[in-house]
Amino acid sequence: MSHQFIRVALPVPLRRLFDYRLPERAAMPVVGGRVRVPFGQRQLIGFVVEQNVTPELDPETIKPVTEVLDQEPLWPLSIWQLLVWAARYYHHPLGDVLSHAAPALVRQGQLPRYEQTTWYTLTKEGEAVTPADLARAPQQQRLLAALANGPAEASVVRALDIPASTVKTLLDKQWISTEQRSNEPQNWVFTGANDPLQLNTEQAVAVAAMKAPLERGDPTVWLLEGVTGSGKTEVYLQAMAPVLERGQQVVILVPEIGLTPQTVARFSKRFNVPIVSLHSGLTDSERLQGWLQARDGKAAIIIGTRSAIFTPCQNIGLMILDEEHDNSFKQQDGFRYNARDLAVKRAHQEGFGLVLGSATPSLESLANVAAKRYQYLRLTQRAGPAQQAQHAVIDLKQQRIESGLSDQLLTTMAKHLQAGNQVLIFLNRRGYASALLCHECGWVSECHRCQANMTLHQFDHLLQCHHCGAQKSIPRQCGGCGSTQLVSQGIGTEQVQETIARRLPGYGILRIDRDSTRRKGQLAEALNAAAEGDYPILIGTQMVAKGHHFPNVTLVALLDVDGALYSSDFRAAERLAQLYLQVAGRAGRAEKKGTVVLQTHHPEHPLIQELVNNGYNDFARAALEERKLALLPPYAAMALIRSEATSKDAAEQLLKAIASCLQGVDNVTVIGPMPAPLGRRAGRYRYQLLLHAEQRAPLHNILMHYLPTFEKLPETRKARWSLDIDPQDFA
Ligand code: ADP
Ligand code: ZN
Ligand code: ZN
Repeated sequence: MSHQFIRVALPVPLRRLFDYRLPERAAMPVVGGRVRVPFGQRQLIGFVVEQNVTPELDPETIKPVTEVLDQEPLWPLSIWQLLVWAARYYHHPLGDVLSHAAPALVRQGQLPRYEQTTWYTLTKEGEAVTPADLARAPQQQRLLAALANGPAEASVVRALDIPASTVKTLLDKQWISTEQRSNEPQNWVFTGANDPLQLNTEQAVAVAAMKAPLERGDPTVWLLEGVTGSGKTEVYLQAMAPVLERGQQVVILVPEIGLTPQTVARFSKRFNVPIVSLHSGLTDSERLQGWLQARDGKAAIIIGTRSAIFTPCQNIGLMILDEEHDNSFKQQDGFRYNARDLAVKRAHQEGFGLVLGSATPSLESLANVAAKRYQYLRLTQRAGPAQQAQHAVIDLKQQRIESGLSDQLLTTMAKHLQAGNQVLIFLNRRGYASALLCHECGWVSECHRCQANMTLHQFDHLLQCHHCGAQKSIPRQCGGCGSTQLVSQGIGTEQVQETIARRLPGYGILRIDRDSTRRKGQLAEALNAAAEGDYPILIGTQMVAKGHHFPNVTLVALLDVDGALYSSDFRAAERLAQLYLQVAGRAGRAEKKGTVVLQTHHPEHPLIQELVNNGYNDFARAALEERKLALLPPYAAMALIRSEATSKDAAEQLLKAIASCLQGVDNVTVIGPMPAPLGRRAGRYRYQLLLHAEQRAPLHNILMHYLPTFEKLPETRKARWSLDIDPQDFA
């Protein structure tokens, strides 16, 4: 009898599929279902990609499938196609892509089903028992009484403090029986929106523009550019209402988990429909339940971070991606996908409208607007009472500066504080100082595992490496010459706090950074206290940059931005502009007019001038023009190959070998290998090789053709490597 074979994607770092033999008389497993198969010494769970294949190897050597786990595909066809497309686009192993998209419990082999709970029911015999029969068994009597009115769930029985032994006794006597019931939620109905706001003209135009395409299921992409506080969320809410009314689902992607509780609250206040929030705080079991509810249409609104882009939906009508410029939509390790780009693909495949919202859109999205691929909607006015903030620059040249604070800034702060307002000082560096330095010989507190200095944390009394986490106590003497003249260099939030406390005494200070919010709940507490106005002075890192409302803040100051002006990363200017406006958006959210102050040694720099005088749009137009001239994304395609190894030589040799494979290829420029900006991290040397092409197709084809060769290079035995398509981060 002839055997049947299937092709399987496995979660292994190899860009290929594997053939397995079906046991005799076994039914052909479905494409998109899971199988358990032997792989080397292990058993792995893989996904069936193709049925009835003719194996490439000798059929006699092909191992059999151990177990077929699913009778149905895990994903609807649309998501399956998206995942297969993503694996090709990112040149990432399909098995790893599929594993990434599956809920953890499914990946581990559990059945994708709703939680089962145990119910107890009285049997006929049980019904016939009278209390008198059980005069000396009061616990049994209580259990029977509890079930007299109908079946009860195990948790209810437990809550009555009835011991498990009693339950077992009655089960043994066959007076009660058990059954498993599935906790599948009910279907939902839309019952209207609670208290929608009266839209202003720009908001109304935006909502109206979306209406008909959403009704038709056109895969339209809207870029909704709205300054902070312009009421983008209200636009989302009102665009959603008719979608929900048609019984369709809405998926909302947000950058950060910190923002999710707030977001979820706004949506649940407006609509009485089931909302599933997929965030990293969930248990695996909760995550699976949420995934099922989305897949089966039981959840009306699905809110999640990056990975929620892969959540299947029975009937999706609208997707909203808020803060679309945010870097966290790009996964930075393993399967390096960009959720925003996949959202656009998914909208086209599945046929639904997609809203990309931001106060500071990515240059990629603005280029897509210019190319007429996206529709452009703008909200230029703050909604409600708040006014646009005023912008000012403080020239640091020749000023007295203490801990990064100019006298001019301290004077301005004092004015706002005396008026009873709050001020927010922004510095994206936590700790006390970026390094400890010997005044006599120039020795610095380097991390022994990274090519970086260890940060001085005065409050915790230690040196910490922000790249690998290494810690040590603060030395009393120089590691080079033994001198005790150690001084700190570079300013962190702790030092700013110390100096402000001394220069502006009497005002309460709240510092919000990763160090001050390490314990669970501390961040939420701090943000609340900040919003309530409990502390006149707020000092924060990027944690406070986005999404939070601080109604009493009238002054926002950015201390140190000059690094971004002369960075080697071509995206640094865009990031600074986005950060600047996000931070600026914290000022004057309520009735009071806000002021945003930027301290710099380069007030004449064109980027600073554009931002402060003309705003984000003019900056973006100029930046896009520059990218076009320099042939940089979005006007070119890039791929970054990274290597790392404990030996410097091994890391470099691997990329040299890859580069020599690519010698002479057409239409793709190979740059490097060169050491990564952070040349060593956690004891590993890091190199990179940049592939640059004016068109995406040749880059894609060359990778397609050469990746299998790279995988077989002998140099890969001594160094790890990875591929990043459309890299966002070059560190
Ligand atoms: P964004 O998401 O653009 O930052 P929000 O949606 O958070 O802005 O809105 C900012 C504030 O303005 C919120 O307090 C919101 O309730 C209010 N708001 C939004 N739209 C309107 C409107 N049409 N009328 C009155 N207030 C509004
Ligand atoms: Zn380190
Ligand atoms: Zn020294």
